[in-house]
Amino acid sequence: MQVTTRTMNKSKHIALVAHDNCKQDLLRWVKEFEDKLEGHTLYATGTTGHLLSKETSLKINCMISGPMGGDQQLGALISESKIDMMIFFWDPLNAVPHDPDVKALLRISAVWNVPVATNRASAKFMITSPLLAEEISIEIPDYDAYLAERIG
Ligand code: PGA
Repeated sequence: MQVTTRTMNKSKHIALVAHDNCKQDLLRWVKEFEDKLEGHTLYATGTTGHLLSKETSLKINCMISGPMGGDQQLGALISESKIDMMIFFWDPLNAVPHDPDVKALLRISAVWNVPVATNRASAKFMITSPLLAEEISIEIPDYDAYLAERIG
C-alpha cells in the first residue's frame, strides 16, 4: 500500500469509548485531564458520551450507543480522516455482544494510522504528549494511488 500524509491540526478530534465495566475508569481519566481535553473536539459512543457530558463540563458529540451502531459511526469518521486519535477502554475480561464492531473499530484505526490508547496508562502517555498541542503530519494510505493501481 502506498502512503501519503495528512495534517492533524493543533486542536485534535478525539474519540472516547468505554465498555460498561470500564466507564468509571474512563470518567476518572477524563476528569483528571479535563483541562487538556477542553481545547479539542470530542466524540463518543452514546452511553459513554452522555455519561461524560453529565459528569463533566465538556461538550461531547455523541454517536448512537456502541452496540446499536456507534462503533461503526466512529469507524466511518476514522475512514474519512475526521478523527485524530481514540481513547478506547475495551473490556478485556468480558464478552460484549458487538465484538465484531469492536474488532472493526480497532482494525480501521490501524488501517488509518490513528493513535489508540486502550487503558489509563496508555491514555495518560497520549494526552500528556507534546504532540497533542502541535500540528503534526501522519502517514495514511494513499487512496488515490490505491484506486489507480486497482482500476488503472
Ligand atoms: P456505549 O458504547 O458508550 O454506548 O456504551 C461503547 C461501546 O462501543 O461498546
